[in-house]
Amino acid sequence: MTDYDLIIVGGGPIGLACAIEAQKKNLRYLIIEKGAIVNSIFNYPLYMTFFSTAERLEIGDIPFNCLAPKPGRQEALEYYRNIHRYFNFNINLFEKVTGIQKNENSIFEITTNKNFYKSKNVIIATGFYDIPITMNVKGEELPKVRHYYKEAHEYAFRNVLVVGANNSSVDAALECWRKGANVTMVIRKNEINNRVKYWVKPDIENRIAEGSIKAYFESNITEIKENEVEILTPNGKVTLENDFVLALTGYKPDLNFLESIGIQLSNDELKIPVYNMETMETNIEGLFLAGVVCGGMQTHKWFIENSRIHAKMILDYIASK
Ligand SMILES: Cc1cc2nc3c(=O)[nH]c(=O)nc-3n(C[C@H](O)[C@H](O)[C@H](O)COP(=O)(O)OP(=O)(O)OC[C@H]3O[C@@H](n4cnc5c(N)ncnc54)[C@H](O)[C@@H]3O)c2cc1C
Repeated sequence: MTDYDLIIVGGGPIGLACAIEAQKKNLRYLIIEKGAIVNSIFNYPLYMTFFSTAERLEIGDIPFNCLAPKPGRQEALEYYRNIHRYFNFNINLFEKVTGIQKNENSIFEITTNKNFYKSKNVIIATGFYDIPITMNVKGEELPKVRHYYKEAHEYAFRNVLVVGANNSSVDAALECWRKGANVTMVIRKNEINNRVKYWVKPDIENRIAEGSIKAYFESNITEIKENEVEILTPNGKVTLENDFVLALTGYKPDLNFLESIGIQLSNDELKIPVYNMETMETNIEGLFLAGVVCGGMQTHKWFIENSRIHAKMILDYIASK
């Protein structure tokens, strides 16, 4: 059977939330996920802690039990796996959607790397974690430059430059320093980002103040070499010995994919997709956006916490049509 009422692209928390609402409405739906279930969370740093408390990450009114108020990656994976066990989703894992177009009968034709499907409605819940925002500096392609951080062990006793001052950079800098790395941060602004988790911010600020972690503020990396990095600081050029660069400079949604489907994006640098804020329907009838993909380049606007409501908004609307 390849004809559906609804195809959901992306099996992240919000894609799953959409599937729960689709089940409630007895719709014939399919989730297509290019990786493992909740693949973005699977790819998070191993020991990350969510800034949200557990109940704010819940979907389908299923309690998220964890001992500490804020869960970590492992507990979140456990929770969302249990969600699948409970709801028994119709989901295809490790299948990537490569194209979506509407035919002359107003039915969506969905192409994947494995199959072809038809559906009356489509929800795009593809998140933003698959494409790193690059720095575009010489040497960025070297294997020692990482845009994703997993754990500290390989950085221990090495010279590590962490680029950025957001949550990912700060967590990585602290973790690597605590495991014995010699950590330097290069930060574009003159302070640690205000969005850094409130219980982590004093930690990094104190480590910088006491000199345990060296930070260059109002500075930019200009070149990465095999054993060195060059950074431009307010006091001129500085060359540092270097083994690894953690360029945790953010991620962006696959805007080309959205545009290839025909979704309009705002003309400014934020590239916010056009959608109806009550129904989440895009400029294409029957094609919806859900979750953090809605923010375009504004990736701090939507979280699991505040975007899980998209699921009910969309499915109530589809059911009312
Ligand atoms: C390190 C980190 C910490 C965060 N902490 C929090 C927090 O504490 N609280 C909070 O509320 N939010 C947090 N967020 C933000 C956000 O809530 C998460 O990114 C969340 O995973 C978003 O859910 P989503 O379902 O919208 O997207 P995602 O979880 O990113 O899911 C999108 C899914 O779509 C799949 N996909 C993409 N393209 C295709 C395709 N073409 N075909 C098939 N599948 C595709 C991906 O593999 C992925 O599994 C955090 C984000 C990061 C990066």
